[in-house]
Amino acid sequence: MSRSTPLARATEAIPHSGIRELVDAAVDVPGAIRLEVGQPDFATPDHIVEAAKRALDEGWTSYTQTQGLRSLRELIVAKIARVNGFQVDPDQVACGTGGVSAIAAAFGAVLEPGDEVLLPDPAWPNYGLMAAWTHSRVVRYPCPAELDFLPDVERLEDLIGARTKLLVLNSPNNPTGAVYPPATVQALAELAERHNLWLLSDECYDEIVHEGRCVSPAALVGDGRVISAYSFSKTYAMTGWRLGYVTGSRRLVDSITKVLESQCSCPPSLSQKAAEAALTGPQECVEEMRAAYRRRRDQVVARLREAGLLTSVPRGAFYIVADVSPSRLSSRDFAFRLLRDRSVSVAPGGAFGEVANQAVRISLASSEEDLAEGVDRLCDLVGELAGG
Ligand code: PLP
Repeated sequence: MSRSTPLARATEAIPHSGIRELVDAAVDVPGAIRLEVGQPDFATPDHIVEAAKRALDEGWTSYTQTQGLRSLRELIVAKIARVNGFQVDPDQVACGTGGVSAIAAAFGAVLEPGDEVLLPDPAWPNYGLMAAWTHSRVVRYPCPAELDFLPDVERLEDLIGARTKLLVLNSPNNPTGAVYPPATVQALAELAERHNLWLLSDECYDEIVHEGRCVSPAALVGDGRVISAYSFSKTYAMTGWRLGYVTGSRRLVDSITKVLESQCSCPPSLSQKAAEAALTGPQECVEEMRAAYRRRRDQVVARLREAGLLTSVPRGAFYIVADVSPSRLSSRDFAFRLLRDRSVSVAPGGAFGEVANQAVRISLASSEEDLAEGVDRLCDLVGELAGG
């Protein structure tokens, strides 16, 4: 071929996640302390694994309904009432291969080329990738450390224009660990109502909360504009099983289901049976993992505070943002330097937006020993670069 056939420009132009760059580099550093990864270091609880094995023996190896098995969606309905405090019926639930695919399907269902989507800064990088292939324009609303990584709702309102269609909020937040107070969620819900926006509330860390409460906007406004997203990955340490779900109005979920049909036909049947066991089985495993994340959070908060590098105390999820500005390096340069000189891998804040570009994300889904040693080395390096 003498001329290269063009690719979709937006998808070709957007970079891969800046976390992946560090993951790839860390793999080549033998013995590196890995604090960049965003997945539980726990194994999936035994009773869930056993249920999947049984399902395999029972022949659960076929396609299911696109939205997921009705029996699973009925259990999800009960979970939403118990944990998230609002009512839906099984037709208002669509499961995807991970929360990521369910969220991407929601982007596909509501956005048209040229629409604007409001994303938090900092934010999970995958939203930007979804915006690229939906040909929508990203507008960032800052959630700065000075505000405990919460949005300034008035400033956010100034960013809304004629093409704004979707407002994304994420609490508990990746990467900051912020848990939005009820008043903030209420204000965002009212703002979405005032400007007739879709409101996508990513609550994939809904059961990992240390202080406060994960408030669902769907429990506050009932006019069908809220899309709520959840995942089995974090709550039950099931990242590789690839199962998450969204809820919304029947009309919206019908469109989301069409996008899911084009993506994957249905989520894996074995994972769906495992997820049923997760919802019906003992919930102590959730409490045990939450307690471990909280212990680690307290440990890292104390060390960063002592070094003067604490930005804000995370109240949920399993991440903490460390200030590395005294090093005078960008977050990316600092992360690569830390890996090269001290064999510790962290996620550069710049991967999440502008606001955290002089900070790095540390994952608390790592052992206490690794966290103690890794955070010590990070503090040392910042001290060395600040003094040098
Ligand atoms: N939302 C946020 C904020 C996340 O951090 C993640 C995963 O890291 C997800 C959604 C999706 O997770 P999964 O696709 O494993 O359900």
